[in-house]
Amino acid sequence: MLENTLVLLKPDAVRRALIGEIISRLERTGLKIIAMKMVKPTPQLAGEHYSYDDIAVRHGEDVRNRLIKFITSDPVVAMVVEGVSAVEVVRKLAGSTEPKSALPGTIRGDFCHHTFALSTEKEESIRNVIHASASVEEAEKEIGLWFNSDEVTEYKRSDQVEHFF
Ligand code: ADP
Repeated sequence: MLENTLVLLKPDAVRRALIGEIISRLERTGLKIIAMKMVKPTPQLAGEHYSYDDIAVRHGEDVRNRLIKFITSDPVVAMVVEGVSAVEVVRKLAGSTEPKSALPGTIRGDFCHHTFALSTEKEESIRNVIHASASVEEAEKEIGLWFNSDEVTEYKRSDQVEHFF
């Protein structure tokens, strides 16, 4: 029920000054940010986050290498977001992976329009502004990579009632 998920605002979101806009979308649903920092990821952190066994196996080594180059190119904003079914809710808000196909109203659908085809032609990672953990297990692993346990806080939002609704 109550879950934590990892959100990264990727370097394209930071460079395009979309940080506040995207955070607002998360906050207005009632989801709670319980940890946040801006960090320029090292290749090691990026490589662990986008692990060979996941990304290279699903999408190929080239896509993984481009992704690591992109995510280490500038700072990202990393967040732990807490809420009921937070993993699924944040994925819904983010929209599908390819911006061209992401529905209007989603973060990717509203803020980008890149395609897999163009990213392959240009040999660049697809610019889709946000990462959100895909499962509770992935969230747990990713939060451990990006945050120390003492960086994850506990507090009540002023609009938070016992059952959130
Ligand atoms: P998501 O981020 O939606 O969970 P994946 O885990 O499948 O998607 O892929 C991780 C990231 O890899 C994507 O967000 C995207 O930036 C990049 N990516 C995935 N597939 C491709 C592709 N075919 N070409 C370029 N980049 C890709």
